[in-house]
Amino acid sequence: MVAWGFCTSRGMSCPTTASASPRCPSTGCRGAAKLTGMRILLVEDEAMMRASVARALRADGHAVDEADSRSAAEMEIRTNSYGLVILDRGLPDGDGLLSLQRWRRRGLTLPVLVLTARDAVGDRIAGLDGGADDYVIKPFSLDELRARVRTLARRPSALRQVVLSAGDLELDTTRAEVRRGGVLLPLRTKELAVLQVLLERRGRVVSRAQLREACWDAEHEPGSNVEEVAVSALRRKLGDPPIIRTRRGLGYVIDD
Ligand code: CA
Repeated sequence: MVAWGFCTSRGMSCPTTASASPRCPSTGCRGAAKLTGMRILLVEDEAMMRASVARALRADGHAVDEADSRSAAEMEIRTNSYGLVILDRGLPDGDGLLSLQRWRRRGLTLPVLVLTARDAVGDRIAGLDGGADDYVIKPFSLDELRARVRTLARRPSALRQVVLSAGDLELDTTRAEVRRGGVLLPLRTKELAVLQVLLERRGRVVSRAQLREACWDAEHEPGSNVEEVAVSALRRKLGDPPIIRTRRGLGYVIDD
């Protein structure tokens, strides 16, 4: 089935196959993307369920990394920044809730949606007490899960920094708006994501690989230059004087 989705790379409609979530033929973007696309970590050990959830979320425009155990999730969490974690409790190396509690102790504030078994009211309460933002009871419909994800994507975290700035540039992370000198700039989703990463690490060089890790999912072909394209579009839109500097051979930096 061919559906028309919103291409985040060019802000245009492009044909996509919702069920398979392929890349847009003209720009290489994946799926019927919406402007709320996040990078999501999906922790689930049942391969078929993981695949179908990942496919549905990618079709909604999210970048999805997959982990099948607590230890794999831990590695991803330490390496990448996520907008949301979907966490199964019954994992081969223990209860996912123990990982969540550890992340919260480390000060990780990102939203976490816990997948939990039916008939376990006590477990659900434990999940929320343990730092989960929401839970879905197995078996669940993909539509229900997608609705919960949409709600969490809209919910501003009180603990998250709201406005990032550099000089006269301001990024309101809750509204996903960028202003320079008070003028609203029309940035696309990936440009916003790249700018947010650079602002969060202001004064530090961010390599192309780090940008790709933070803003695109692991399936993106390693040789592509998506991050370069996004940075050059960003520079055009941000105008003068330049804010993003290139450190040849190292990456990009926004000066402190
Ligand atoms: Ca499981």
